[in-house]
Parts: sequence; structure tokens; C-alpha cells
Amino acid sequence: MTVLQMRRSLICPKCKKTLYYEIDDNSAMKSGGLIPITIIHGYPDAHALVVYVDTNGANRGYEVIENLVDLRSNFDAREILNIIGEKKIAKIIASIVGGLTLYIEGDPESIKLLHIFLSKILKNQFFSLADNEKLADIKISIIKKKNNPKVPGEKYILSLLRKGRKMSESGYVNMLNVEISKLKTKIRKVIDVLERRNISKTELMEELEINDREFELIIQFIKTKRPNLIKNLVDSLLDIL
Ligand SMILES: [Zn+2]
Repeated sequence: MTVLQMRRSLICPKCKKTLYYEIDDNSAMKSGGLIPITIIHGYPDAHALVVYVDTNGANRGYEVIENLVDLRSNFDAREILNIIGEKKIAKIIASIVGGLTLYIEGDPESIKLLHIFLSKILKNQFFSLADNEKLADIKISIIKKKNNPKVPGEKYILSLLRKGRKMSESGYVNMLNVEISKLKTKIRKVIDVLERRNISKTELMEELEINDREFELIIQFIKTKRPNLIKNLVDSLLDIL
């Protein structure tokens, strides 16, 4: 199945920053109406812009949510990890990194905490959460003791979340921000190459300077969101010999 990604932009009326978001054909078809996409951004003054797009991808309205700022100074990232659960948060981040449209089930207070966490560690990166379960590729519950589906890359993200136990709050937040943005960039680069041409694993790894472990991880993400691109990964003579 081919998923056409539509990349759109708009200017946030609060901070005047240009925000980018992507919607795909699938989401548009599933909803049959307006699709709300939440973009959390702005640091340290985090706020959310909810954009309503129609099935053609046209922007039909928006609203700004500012109450994300109120609570953030009272919680540090690791406190929120303990409250919500690091495995649940690892699944959510892995979904965001993999470009999945995510629906989160939870009570309003927990969702607010999650927003604070995400706005800390994903600063200056854009991501979108569907506000409607029908539009989502994956549904993750942050309600205690609920089981969630497996998400590609969640183990790697979990290892990152556990890595900085002894760091300061700002060191920890920065480490996560840098590692997640590096991973997203590498996924984007691999997708760019695979969209343009056939290439072997060896050539791809050399060209983009990625190691075996990163390669396996990136392929997991691509298999989930863009499975049709995997066929462009071909055996080279070197691989066969
Ligand atoms: Zn803004």
C-alpha cells in the first residue's frame, strides 16, 4: 500500500514560528471529516497549536493551547517518567520518531504531564498527535496496568531513557533531545536515499555513516511506516559473494 505524505506548513499565531506537519492519505481517508493535528512547540514557553485539516489536506482552522506552561516548572523529566512509566513513554517516543500517527488514551492530568515531558525533550522538533482514535496508526494507553502494542525501536528508546540516571535535569533533557534528533535525521536520510534509488545495505551504511545496530533500528522504523521502500534495498555483488 502506498501512503502519500502531504507536507504542510503554517505560521503559529502566538509565536509567529513556521510549523511543519505531515498528514498521509490514510488518515485523511479514515476520518471522512476534519483531522485535528496537535503540534507542541516553543521552548521554554511551550504551547500547542491544534490544526484542523480536511480530507484534501487543506487547513480549515486552528486553536492555540497555552496551558502547557503552567505545570512544567513543577516537574522534572524523570519524575514524569516515574509517574507515567518509562516503558509507556518509550513506546510513545518510538512512535513519534517512526512518524506514526499516535493516539494516546489517558486521563487529562496524565496527558498534560506527558505533554510537558515531550515539550522538554523534543524542543525545536515538530511532531503531531491525533486527537481522534480513528485517525491513528497506533493507540497507546497511559492508564496504569493497561497493555500496549509493541512499537519498533521502543527498546532502544527505553535504553536512552535509562541512560542518564545520574545526570542533572538539563543534562538529561539535552541528552535525550540530541539522541532523538540524531536518530530522526538518520531515518529521514535513509528514506530520502531509498525514495530516489536502489541501493545495497553496504553502500547505504557507508554513504550515510551508519553502523550495523543503527541500520537494524532504522529499518525497523521504515518497515512500519513505509514498508514499500524496503524493496529498494537490494543485494550488491559484494553482499552475495
Ligand atoms: Zn507557537
